[in-house]
Amino acid sequence: MINGHQDEAPKFIVKSTLMMTLLSGLTVAPFFFINLYHQNLPIAALAAVFACIQFFSAYQCYHAKYNTVIGFISSIPMMFIGSSLALFELGVTASYWPFLSVFGFYFTLQLRMARATNILYLIMIFPLGYFVLPFEVFVRFYPGLVGISLFLYICVNEIQNQHHTLTEMSITDSLTGLYNRTVLDLTLENAINLSKRENKSMTLLMIDIDNFKRINDTFGHLVGDEVLKCLSSLMKENFRKTDALFRLGGEEFLVLLRDSNRASSVMVAERLRETISNTEIIREQQVTISVGVSELTNHSQWKDWLSDCDQRLFKAKEAGKNKVVSSIQEVAV
Ligand code: GH3
Ligand code: MG
Ligand code: MG
Repeated sequence: MINGHQDEAPKFIVKSTLMMTLLSGLTVAPFFFINLYHQNLPIAALAAVFACIQFFSAYQCYHAKYNTVIGFISSIPMMFIGSSLALFELGVTASYWPFLSVFGFYFTLQLRMARATNILYLIMIFPLGYFVLPFEVFVRFYPGLVGISLFLYICVNEIQNQHHTLTEMSITDSLTGLYNRTVLDLTLENAINLSKRENKSMTLLMIDIDNFKRINDTFGHLVGDEVLKCLSSLMKENFRKTDALFRLGGEEFLVLLRDSNRASSVMVAERLRETISNTEIIREQQVTISVGVSELTNHSQWKDWLSDCDQRLFKAKEAGKNKVVSSIQEVAV
């Protein structure tokens, strides 16, 4: 995804990990007091450390700071060790615990981790179940456990794929496949922060098709749509993968060039302007663009930066269109 958050854990994982860690902490905390009362200090200290780790993890999840380590802290003790110890100690009576564990992994760990942990868990439960459970129970218990695990994996995988597709749909423009305005503010804010932190040049290009209304009026809206699609493809080819391309609306586009200063961005914009004016997008009809270029300088708000870029685009139109303008005072081409 555009802001590099594709590895972020889904919200339900953060919420269920918060619940699990809180539950684990609350379950173990009384053992601290009981052992302290009975002067069993090492066990009391162990219980205190364990409960504190669980409460700290819950606190982190509450502040949306989930990570894989926290996921393991919440799943390994209760589900991995607890359920296998219960099976070992109680046999058939505790044979439902592994089923809960298999669910638990998918609610506290991200999909790939949950899958790997589940495989390890199933491998560990096989000999344990085989020796602890009566054979006629084991031959029903173990395939059931594997089946539930597989079924859960398919379900969670499908839900995540659909979630990914819907997220992509909500942030992209269906005609051109470029980003829409939904993530514009966040992307530009992130760019401003990154530029401050790492002292990187960032430049915006605002691109507008010249006389697009005339193209629509002359050739029809469907041809107009094709022009928009063709132009977007040319833009995708022209820019780097790290640049972010937006359709602001109508025939207006915005490109965020990361790690690019004014001079090199003007060169890139010029190359695009030339490519488009030399490409026969519509037969015997030249299509041209005007471009405003604005490097991030002392803008603290993304809206000011965007507005600067808009002013330069306006200048390019004023100067006769099919131009790249990077300064309010002068016309570059
Ligand atoms: P200028 O050179 O000054 O930019 O003039 P222009 O004609 O390009 O700009 P204007 O704002 O007058 O017209 C933009 C046109 O874009 C009007 C609108 O009908 C058309 N338009 C907006 N969205 C779409 C779309 O999704 N598909 C098509 N085919 N046309 C669109
Ligand atoms: Mg236009
Ligand atoms: Mg326009």
